[in-house]
Amino acid sequence: MTLKASQGIWTSITTQDHYIHDNSFMSIEEKSDCDAMEMKYDAKAKMVLPGLIDAHVHLDKAYTIDSIGNESGTLLEAIQNFKQASPDFSKEVIKERMKKTVNHAVSFGTSALRSHLDFNMSDGGEIAQRTIEAALEVKEEMKPMADLQFFPMCDLTQLSARGKEILELGLREGLDGIGGAPHLSDQPKESILQTFQMAEKMGKPIDLHSDESDDPSIETVNEIARQTIQFGFQGKVNVGHLCSLAAMSQEKADETIANISEAKLNVITLPGANMYLQGRNDKGLIRRGVTRVKELTGAGVKTAVASDNIQDPFHPFGKGDLVEIGRLSTYAAHMNSEADKLMTLRMVTEIPAELMGLDKYGMKEGNPVSFTIFDATTVNELFSWTPVGRWVYRNSAWVCITKQMQSWKTGQEVTN
Ligand SMILES: [Zn+2]
Repeated sequence: MTLKASQGIWTSITTQDHYIHDNSFMSIEEKSDCDAMEMKYDAKAKMVLPGLIDAHVHLDKAYTIDSIGNESGTLLEAIQNFKQASPDFSKEVIKERMKKTVNHAVSFGTSALRSHLDFNMSDGGEIAQRTIEAALEVKEEMKPMADLQFFPMCDLTQLSARGKEILELGLREGLDGIGGAPHLSDQPKESILQTFQMAEKMGKPIDLHSDESDDPSIETVNEIARQTIQFGFQGKVNVGHLCSLAAMSQEKADETIANISEAKLNVITLPGANMYLQGRNDKGLIRRGVTRVKELTGAGVKTAVASDNIQDPFHPFGKGDLVEIGRLSTYAAHMNSEADKLMTLRMVTEIPAELMGLDKYGMKEGNPVSFTIFDATTVNELFSWTPVGRWVYRNSAWVCITKQMQSWKTGQEVTN
């Protein structure tokens, strides 16, 4: 098959619904104005996908594990330790970490990321302001590499007038929406209400950390669903984690999933961080802390899987490779059938693209020419090999090519 493009826009695409091609010659052609820069690539026995989409990361926290530990491995210690350390991070240091994380993610085939931002007002506003400035500068500087979105995490019930001023200014200057973690608030209902009021006032979407707890009585997502309908925000609210949903009785979980579905909430599961942070008080059988992915997708809830924290006190491992995270999700959520594996692929591509409102996403006629080629021919191979070989093409240019080379004792060399 041949995929054709002209002046950076797809002009001819034959889509496949099974992701397994027949090993026949496949080429991608792109022609510039004068046909002088024709590019051809033989993607024989490889998988071509639009870019991977990471809908929930923390770019400002990534790669701090060496300077900020977490002895207990709990969410609360991670929050406390980061809060204590963050006043010492300069804007340049924050930017450096963000760019490093984005570059790694891009090298693995990711083309867009949504990052939550710490909003530390303990010094009156300077720390929050410098974090926002770093984010907005990185968003601009990294445009050739990836599309970035930023959501500051606020508890509006705790914000001073100055805090609200900084938040509103940031939203006007380019922050993409409002985040938070209402289950950690002293007044969860009021915190949710004020988040919706601010989102309505500023005309922005909402993306909340929700019910990241093993305690089945924690159910702020039901209040989020109620307010979503009240404010007419259906489809514009993402909820991440939902760990307590996994711990609830079946009856209560069924009711909650029905509420999530009715309010058209979008869900993001974060298996790496949650398998690390949750179940810390369990003895013997340790709960996975991962939400009910199969039941949510079965109920038609748009569900994505994302990286969350990368090498920081919330999650000491990871590198921003969504193929790796997708595989982790198949283990954690028992997504084993062929249909489940295809769903997992959708959970790192088209579903998070929709959750992030990326309307020019996908290899479709009229869309910008961006794609990633993987050294795999089937979905099973993709998640088994998590292949090193990835060719990343964005807006008419190769952004990053990674190849694997093996040298054998026999003198044979194999490059993929
Ligand atoms: Zn998070």
